[in-house]
Amino acid sequence: MARYRDGVCKLCRREGLKLFLKGDRCATDKCAIERRPYPSGQHGQGRSKFSEYGTQLREKQKVKRLYGVLEKQFRRTFYEADRRSGITGEVLLSLLESRLDNLVFRAGFARSRSEARQLVRHRHILVNGRKAMTPSMQLKAGDKIEIKEKSREKVSVIKESLEGAERRGRPSWVDVNPQTFSAQFNGEIRREEITLPITEQLIVELYSK
Ligand code: SF4
Repeated sequence: MARYRDGVCKLCRREGLKLFLKGDRCATDKCAIERRPYPSGQHGQGRSKFSEYGTQLREKQKVKRLYGVLEKQFRRTFYEADRRSGITGEVLLSLLESRLDNLVFRAGFARSRSEARQLVRHRHILVNGRKAMTPSMQLKAGDKIEIKEKSREKVSVIKESLEGAERRGRPSWVDVNPQTFSAQFNGEIRREEITLPITEQLIVELYSK
């Protein structure tokens, strides 16, 4: 399975904002973008004015990187959003928010989406009582996510992550019960709770060319 293997802080530096890809480290002064708020590389501090196409491309790259989705899958998600009724940009964000790896992260069982993906791939997650191994799985309203009983004590990142979950905050579309290591997705994704500066319309314009 294809995946991004390079350093993730350079992605934030490229997009010029914190994408919170490294869990708790992102909130410390070790965050790379705090120390070097410009793109990495020889020309990182050079010209940064974008054309219209460049602006749209950067917006797409930002969202793709935020949710940890590669190009092909992101494009597929966009076409699915375009096919559905509603405002395409908002439907796109809803589809990305409904991914299993994102919801494991949003529920507070992992400190980042990449950690959440690993929990799924390593079979620590149940969806509606059944093992789920596909991070991109789309969840529906009413679906229940659970940490496998054997993994609750054994996998230290889950407990550590739950301890910091209140501080990080949870969106209203996951109802979490930390005692039972479970969460329910209510399907009511509210655009205003996705607080990172995203202009999804630019992505729609990019793919509509
Ligand atoms: Fe981005 Fe986190 Fe790295 Fe900071 S520490 S640059 S927010 S991934």
